[in-house]
Amino acid sequence: MTPTSTPPSAGPLPPPPPPRARRHGTVRGRFAPSPTGALHFGSLLAAFGSWLAARGAGGEWWIRIEDVDAAREVPGAAAMQLRTLAAFGLVHDGPVGYQSRRGHLYAAALARLLDAGLAFECHCSRSDVADAGGVHRSCRPGARRPDPAVRLRVTDGSRVAFDDAVHGRIAQDVDREVGDFVLRRADGWWAYQLAVVVDDADQGITDVVRGADLLDSTPRQLLLQHALGLPRPRYLHLPLVLDDDGHKLSKSSASLPVDAADPLPALRAAWHALGQDPHRLPASASLAATLAAAVRGFDAGRIPRGPLAATAVHNALAMRDA
Ligand SMILES: [Zn+2]
Repeated sequence: MTPTSTPPSAGPLPPPPPPRARRHGTVRGRFAPSPTGALHFGSLLAAFGSWLAARGAGGEWWIRIEDVDAAREVPGAAAMQLRTLAAFGLVHDGPVGYQSRRGHLYAAALARLLDAGLAFECHCSRSDVADAGGVHRSCRPGARRPDPAVRLRVTDGSRVAFDDAVHGRIAQDVDREVGDFVLRRADGWWAYQLAVVVDDADQGITDVVRGADLLDSTPRQLLLQHALGLPRPRYLHLPLVLDDDGHKLSKSSASLPVDAADPLPALRAAWHALGQDPHRLPASASLAATLAAAVRGFDAGRIPRGPLAATAVHNALAMRDA
């Protein structure tokens, strides 16, 4: 160092900590919507439920846009969802993650699995797998295709169990019920299972709170976590809101986009749907005061397994001024 150099204290700033940095023991939850349309009540339930679980534990709440499937993406939907969440006062920590920008992480994880012999190229056609009852256990001999998929090798007797905070003990024989599952599709797109496992670990997520439609795919994610040597988060699956025909709400059926201009009625309906004590929310209060009371009063032990009927939710919404 020469005498004319600046003192060490005036040197360049140290680089910022990586986004996954987290105080030891801190809860970090997340909401991970697919940008397929406006935020409807079912997505609000997942957003509010995951936000309450994280904030109620004094933790962080992150947002990840699950735009891994470009074919299903609606242009502008992600930005609209983020605006709606902000209007509802559900403010996130950390940068918003986009799966479409994280392909390098998925590629690295896939390479590790292939190198370790835990994943393999599959040349089977869709009908080959359908002929096997939809459960892939071995490749059709001699099959070759220019665009093979990559699957995780699920060994015989792969029974996976975990404890869900709402649904209790869940167990699945992944080899018999699911089979070797796809990590990278034949068309080159990343499979959701791989992306979500890599993302949750990379972003330091400790608590996965999401809709019960993903309960069945959790054992696959646990197998992948184990294969990649990643930590296992805690899981809480929220009740689904079903339409009158028993189908999950989607934009093609009875779902209503939530009203970003008037968030309190939908938040109250979501609080009700999450089984929470209505007396914990002030009868008339600002959005900020309502959210603060919700964080103080939240009790995960009251969340019902569901599913919930959309009609009841609509009725709760209709009680907005009662
Ligand atoms: Zn195959």
